[in-house]
Amino acid sequence: MMPRTVHIIGAGLAGLSAAARLATPDNRVIVHEATAFAGGRCRSYHDASVGMTIDNGNHLLLSGNHAALAFLRAIGSEHRLVGPAAAEFPFLDLKSCARWTLRFNGGRLPFWIFDSTRRVPDTRARDYFSLARLLWPAPDKSVGEAIAAKGILYSRLIEPLLLAALNIDPPRGSAKLAAAVIRETLAAGGRACRPLIARDGLAPTLIEPALDYLRERGALVRLEHQLRAIRFEGQRVAALDFGDEIAALDDADAVILAVPPYAAASLVPGLTVPTEFRAIVNAHFRIEPPAGQPPILGIINGTTQWIFAFPGRLSVTVSAGDALLDTPREELARTIWAEVAQASALPAEPLPPWQIVRERRATFAATPEQDKKRPGARTAWRNLLLAGDWTNTGLPATIEGAIRSGNRAAEFARAQ
Ligand SMILES: Cc1cc2nc3c(=O)[nH]c(=O)nc-3n(C[C@H](O)[C@H](O)[C@H](O)COP(=O)(O)OP(=O)(O)OC[C@H]3O[C@@H](n4cnc5c(N)ncnc54)[C@H](O)[C@@H]3O)c2cc1C
Repeated sequence: MMPRTVHIIGAGLAGLSAAARLATPDNRVIVHEATAFAGGRCRSYHDASVGMTIDNGNHLLLSGNHAALAFLRAIGSEHRLVGPAAAEFPFLDLKSCARWTLRFNGGRLPFWIFDSTRRVPDTRARDYFSLARLLWPAPDKSVGEAIAAKGILYSRLIEPLLLAALNIDPPRGSAKLAAAVIRETLAAGGRACRPLIARDGLAPTLIEPALDYLRERGALVRLEHQLRAIRFEGQRVAALDFGDEIAALDDADAVILAVPPYAAASLVPGLTVPTEFRAIVNAHFRIEPPAGQPPILGIINGTTQWIFAFPGRLSVTVSAGDALLDTPREELARTIWAEVAQASALPAEPLPPWQIVRERRATFAATPEQDKKRPGARTAWRNLLLAGDWTNTGLPATIEGAIRSGNRAAEFARAQ
């Protein structure tokens, strides 16, 4: 029997994970990517200003991201993720200069909240019970409606956690998405909360091994091959229009559209998708991290939110960084460097070689209203499936969500 063809549009993590699932002898997988590189919002590139290969943004995974870890295991690069042996998160408050390390215990029972050396300083165990209100929120509520967005526990734990996970000012974020994050992290215990970083870069860890895996299994990855239009016929997609080339689909063939929401909406008539986005700003400084610098350091009361240490580089992440989009680049680099220098006991002058990367549409805005606009994987056309971190995964826009969406679309395509 001739294998059927599955066209996957978009070589971000959603498209690559779908392709990896489907690259078996029964399917001829072709991945079509509009740009000259795979990886989408999760990519590495050589940057002339810092004179080194950097990532578009620091990406953090947690040991409880089971779909992401299974993907990495399948493509043979799980060993490239590094992190501490235990779930530990050092923090610094730039205003009070207080430093502490959150130390979750391994199991589901949160003993750490009863231990003043493990929990957030100046909090009491009973403060943490407010988190329970976030675990089962009323549908359609925002975080600000579910809990009081104030107090020490909020500013030192809940706000940094939700800002990083939801990429939105937490009170405006969807309580349902916040609950999903807390269920899969804090409530799942320290074994699910170990921070993991692609120390050698996103591309060598997540993208290049996936491309090798696909090529070894006969899948074709076509870069600079943008889908321009979809030709529909009754209940099915009949052909894909790439401008210079039309690919006709046989009856058993399928399409997985794994492009961002605005691209999907322009290709699929009548599709409802999230329409609001939030930015993420990253600042990269070419400097050797000092001895003892933790792989990730949480910062409270600064523009900087997280400092990541890589070989030869310190990199800063600012989530929901929309207010910084118009700040002059050098001003921003100087502001952030002053904070990094304070946090890492490095000289404030001279400013090391730097780069600012601003991803304007880093993720969809994780509000209750936008969350309701996320479609499932199936469409009105029997051979057209959707994937992407913005589809209805039940999670905010994350690597884990993108990979789960790709897996789900692949399973539907397989069952078709
Ligand atoms: C700066 C930054 C920091 C982040 N930090 C984290 C983090 O710490 N942890 C975490 O879990 N997540 C993080 N994320 C989110 C994570 O990167 C995304 O959730 C994930 O990469 C989305 O993958 P995707 O495949 O759904 O979409 P994308 O990566 O957007 O992939 C879509 C692909 O489709 C292609 N495409 C578009 N139109 C067409 C077309 N017509 N034809 C062919 N191809 C097309 C695009 O070029 C792109 O390659 C971060 C994102 C950013 C931007």
